[in-house]
Amino acid sequence: MREKEKMRHAVSVHLRGVKALHQVSPRFFPVLTLYSFFEAIAPYVAVFFSAQILKELAVLRRADVLWKWVIAGVLCIGVTSVLKAVLWRRYQTLFDDLYGRKEILFIHKMFSLDFSELDKQENHDLRAQIRQNENWSGWGLMRIPYVYRNFVSGVIGILSGIALTVSLFTSPVPDTAGRLTLLNNPIFILILAALMAAVSILAGKFSAAAEKLWSSGAEMATFGNRVFSHFGYIGKAKERSVDIRMNEQENLVRAYWRSDSAFGVHGLFGKMARGKMGVYASLGACITTLIIGTIYVFTCLKAWGGAFDVGSITQYVGAATAMVSNIVDLIGLMGTMESNAVFLDKAFEFLDIPNAMYQGSLTTEKRSDRQYEMEFRDVSFRYPGSESWALRHVNLKFRVGSRLAIVGENGSGKTTFIKLLCRLYDPQEGEILLNGIDIRKYRYDDYRNLFSVVFQDFQLIAQPLGANVAGSMEYDRARARRALIDAGFGERLETMEKGLDTMLYKELSEEGVDISGGEAQKIAIARALYKDAPFIILDEPTAALDPIAEAEIYSKFDGIAGDKTAIYISHRLSSCKFCDEIAVFQEGRVVQRGSHDELVADEGGKYYQLWNAQAQYYKTESGKQAWEKHCFV
Ligand code: ADP
Repeated sequence: MREKEKMRHAVSVHLRGVKALHQVSPRFFPVLTLYSFFEAIAPYVAVFFSAQILKELAVLRRADVLWKWVIAGVLCIGVTSVLKAVLWRRYQTLFDDLYGRKEILFIHKMFSLDFSELDKQENHDLRAQIRQNENWSGWGLMRIPYVYRNFVSGVIGILSGIALTVSLFTSPVPDTAGRLTLLNNPIFILILAALMAAVSILAGKFSAAAEKLWSSGAEMATFGNRVFSHFGYIGKAKERSVDIRMNEQENLVRAYWRSDSAFGVHGLFGKMARGKMGVYASLGACITTLIIGTIYVFTCLKAWGGAFDVGSITQYVGAATAMVSNIVDLIGLMGTMESNAVFLDKAFEFLDIPNAMYQGSLTTEKRSDRQYEMEFRDVSFRYPGSESWALRHVNLKFRVGSRLAIVGENGSGKTTFIKLLCRLYDPQEGEILLNGIDIRKYRYDDYRNLFSVVFQDFQLIAQPLGANVAGSMEYDRARARRALIDAGFGERLETMEKGLDTMLYKELSEEGVDISGGEAQKIAIARALYKDAPFIILDEPTAALDPIAEAEIYSKFDGIAGDKTAIYISHRLSSCKFCDEIAVFQEGRVVQRGSHDELVADEGGKYYQLWNAQAQYYKTESGKQAWEKHCFV
């Protein structure tokens, strides 16, 4: 991109950022504008009143006017300072608040994103990068308040500076001053004003060049931050503590804390600070001092010639010095904006990920008879970016109230089948029908609400037990209790003093309780029951349990599921023996269907082979007894 285009792009992404942040925090920018205004005029107010008071003291010596200037000065400087202080507090509070509110933009995007996009590793990486950039010197959206504040105070400052310095140029040196009257020549004034502007711009350019260097190290910084956020907190993770201690993993971690890593003294940024970046910053500072020196000389010469008094010298020198620093900062800000644009692009790349999934408008009738029929018609599916089919020509039909088991070896496509059924993905070929209508034609939320799923990697959160079950802070307590009891959590619930209000896990409360894997799984099942959806799916949430405990849970669940359609997934055939129908998956295809008895009778079939292979595990006496009790009775 050419320099001009780059700047134009930087301005446009920053404006977009202001708009986006304003949406989530409408009070932030009005407060910041007011604060920046008072911040900008404060030095000029002080300079103006000091000049007037000095003028009265040194030249005019009118006591009655002097005390009025003193009172007015104290009042104006005082009011400006108080307002600045009050607004600064307010700004700080809103800034901290903005940090959380800005997350709304990302969270909203995450929730509204097509699952297929959300599931992509590259999008997770992008989100992680954005967060890391934000943590690292606050690049990205959180840099916008800084840019906005400096822009507003820069512009207001320059305008105030012009107002207070105009008469520096227009007050003529009297003819009695001899050669110094040369300073009255408009060409001389024009050249000086142009020189001042040009040199301020040059100083600003140096400052901008120093700022721009940050973006050249963006990739390195992002990686550095990634390392930092991973290894910096690695010791904090409870589940890692044993491994770290026993395997002395801190040696591996330490290898990353070298002085030549991104943020180390000898790293990229350390080198830049000692090299180019430092040189640019120093050059900028030198030039700024030169301009201020020139202003001093010009002002003093005019005053020497009699153009104005000592009070005005204070005003002109003070105002011009402040104005030069405003100009330098404003131009330097262009560098910050160009650097930040690179990081903002990343944020908007994520926020702009398009949703390609078709969203229909049909409502899924809330049928009291729960008469739903699902059909997979010649469905084939490939994960985005994958060459191989995860499901191939799947045909399957099941009616409400039935118990369907999906069995097969790992990687045979069982979970993928569920993901398609819940419309987390759309198939590339074939169609999935609900009561004869393609599921794409239904409203997405409506359709998704037909399913309660307990996935293998279900997640509970550090919130009260009841809220976890209901998925909401306000809920029907009796229903939540019932669901927990049905899921087999009743006894444990009795032992909890605070019952449904017991906080799970200790992350947010010291009173939180740590629960075992088995208990967590029961809560997850209770959550599925609470939802009371017509379809209930257990996708191997019991994989961590032994096969017998799993079989027990599955057969008990059969009773709890009542008139709902239940789909069980397991690679352990014993768990699903009681189902009306079993579909056997192999390499993404349904290779067999039927009841357990039918399937086990087919000696040439996959089911027979799997069944016999698994039965081998239970040949010990105690295992055999339990096995027979649960599977063959
Ligand atoms: P199962 O549940 O039977 O163990 P899956 O449905 O999880 O099997 O996987 C079926 C196939 O799809 C496997 O080959 C697996 O590697 C692949 N697969 C699963 N999830 C993804 C994904 N998110 N991206 C790419 N391939 C995937």
